[in-house]
Amino acid sequence: MKILICDNLNQQVYKELEKIGDCFDISKSLSKDEDLANHIKDSEIVVIRSATKLTKEVLDKAEQLKIIARCGVGIDNVDLDFAKSKNIFVTNAPSANLISVVELTVALIISASRKLSLADSHLKKGEWNRSEFLGYELYGKTLGIVGFGKAGRLVADRMKSFGMSIVFYDPYVTDWNGSEESVELDDLLRTADVVSIHVIKTKDTENLISKDMLDLLKPSSIIVNTSRGGVLDEDYLFELLESEKIFGAGLDVYSNEPPENVDRYNGLNLVTTPHIGASTNEAQLKAGLETIENIKKILAGDESVAL
Ligand code: NAD
Repeated sequence: MKILICDNLNQQVYKELEKIGDCFDISKSLSKDEDLANHIKDSEIVVIRSATKLTKEVLDKAEQLKIIARCGVGIDNVDLDFAKSKNIFVTNAPSANLISVVELTVALIISASRKLSLADSHLKKGEWNRSEFLGYELYGKTLGIVGFGKAGRLVADRMKSFGMSIVFYDPYVTDWNGSEESVELDDLLRTADVVSIHVIKTKDTENLISKDMLDLLKPSSIIVNTSRGGVLDEDYLFELLESEKIFGAGLDVYSNEPPENVDRYNGLNLVTTPHIGASTNEAQLKAGLETIENIKKILAGDESVAL
């Protein structure tokens, strides 16, 4: 059985895959698109993370493909409908990355509230002008969570320990156990001190946090997105930061990855990371092993783990 590995995997995960079939690793290829187009023809399993895009055009070349295994949660890089139409099972690891992305979100919130990115580059340039870095405490402030699913709830739990009160917007959540308050999106943006976005990317969430929505933010607010690029209007966010109409922001995900015109970020209270929410040893190991279990189940005839 030919297994095509398109993105970088944990070594232990790689070894487990070798027990299932013959692995071809194109994750470090300099001509990956070409290699993908060639190798997908006779591959039976394709293993990806978020970087590889399995579009209709790519999948159309697959002649033997049975399983697409996504080591992580989001499957917006796979044409799911087309895969299903070709009877290809698609499986993922929906919870494995959670703690890692939640911890990164907390890091971005704290960094923006204390201007850590600006302060760090300031000191490394040999400067010591402490008055430039007046931040604010999170204690007693309101955190607004957009998308109150697995990640959103875990971020809320952690930020409660900082003394923040939590409001959320999620039209699909009708019951929950905690002290959080459900509000409309415009009210959340108008009132929250920190806004953290945790929606999945769908046609409905595309540009959910639009220019008009961003205009509702308070001048003292921080907005953080570790969900998916394209759910907020990044260009307008930069305009708000440049004109100091909001206090700060944190981004791990972008509409185009890698993003363009990054020089524009310099000097802003904007903490950026290159989509590393799931980039921890623990997350990659968990996601890989969970995905392998799913592959084994599908091969054994259990389709319950397929999307
Ligand atoms: P989840 O499915 O558990 O939660 C998503 C929530 O969004 C759900 O509660 C759903 O009801 C809500 N939602 C859907 N449409 C909405 C809308 N129009 N308005 C408001 N809420 C809406 O997903 P999760 O596991 O919590 O993951 C959240 C996001 O984090 C996903 O986009 C995922 O891709 C992303 N993620 C990013 C990284 C990273 O590396 N940065 C890693 C893991 C996950």
